Amino acid sequence: MGVLGVDCAMMGVMPATRKKTVTPGATPRDARNLLRSGEGARALQMLGDRWCLLILRDAFLGARRFEDFRRLTGAARGTLTQRLNLLVQQGVLYRNPYGRSPGRLEYRLTDKGMGFYPVALALWSWESRWAGEFGLPPALIHKRCGHAMQPEATCGHCARPIQPVEVLFEPGPGAKTTRATPVGDERRRRTSHGPHAAGVDTTMFHSIDTIGDRWSVLLLAALFFGLHRYDDIFAAMGIATNILSDRLQRFLSVGVIERKLYSTRPPRYEYRLTAKGWDLYPFAITLQDWGTTWLPAPNGPAIRLFHKPCHHALRVRMACNVCHEPIDPHEVGVQASRGWRATRRLTRPAAPAARKKAQAVRRKA
Ligand SMILES: [Zn+2]
Ligand SMILES: [Zn+2]
Repeated sequence: MGVLGVDCAMMGVMPATRKKTVTPGATPRDARNLLRSGEGARALQMLGDRWCLLILRDAFLGARRFEDFRRLTGAARGTLTQRLNLLVQQGVLYRNPYGRSPGRLEYRLTDKGMGFYPVALALWSWESRWAGEFGLPPALIHKRCGHAMQPEATCGHCARPIQPVEVLFEPGPGAKTTRATPVGDERRRRTSHGPHAAGVDTTMFHSIDTIGDRWSVLLLAALFFGLHRYDDIFAAMGIATNILSDRLQRFLSVGVIERKLYSTRPPRYEYRLTAKGWDLYPFAITLQDWGTTWLPAPNGPAIRLFHKPCHHALRVRMACNVCHEPIDPHEVGVQASRGWRATRRLTRPAAPAARKKAQAVRRKA
């Protein structure tokens, strides 16, 4: 997705001293190149999928075993196997032997997988503000300061919270040469309203149902690039009309966008992000940042972002909104209900438990 620029009308120009030419405004054609070749597009190619996002959510919450992932995500065995294989192939997870019997493997996060943590934080944060009737996720506790926190996307250089209007973008050398076209099979994802099997953790279903497929995130990126009219979005995304209509409908129904009349004869509407939609910006920009770090293109980045207040290339750092310190994944806890904790209870290897029992029996004897 190239993402993360700003509404064209709000775009400024970089100071002349930097000798950077910043795109004065994304035309549908510019946007098309950026949407399809950007670092975010490559990230989406890999992870813009409901099941991959749920697997990562659970990996960050401590799940490692196949059966735990299956129960917590509610994925069918075949689907789960396929996604775990994909995440291993892409270097996001690795297989680690455990227990005594050979062939027992658990799934752990690599550094590349841990690098996705800011994206997960951004989604968690959005969910906690907007999931409402769908059930809010447990609060996050920043152990360093001891407070319940909302993670904030801040500039890695000047530490100010990132505002969409303060982010500038320009196409990089990889803009026209790298291609990350979304794959074809993009069936409508399930919604979260059906019954779930016992043990499924529905935390973050609202965000994952909203953006958990590649087309939805590309649509979001097109809106962040300042495209509002159906024809412009259609030209930039280059997807089937039924898919685009479906995703627009979905965004309207969850309140991420609204329709505004811009011409009366004949009546024509454009799509504008609501506050709830703009609040997905940290998600989009952390995804872009992850792609920049972990999926570098051979000919250089497809898109470069700059932070207007400090004039530096923008790198994102998630920070605690109470103490403003950067968030280390090991310093984050959850404050959750007993019910939620019960859902999250993970399987333990049978062998050590059986061994302990046997030892206890021996001691009594
Ligand atoms: Zn800055
Ligand atoms: Zn803090």
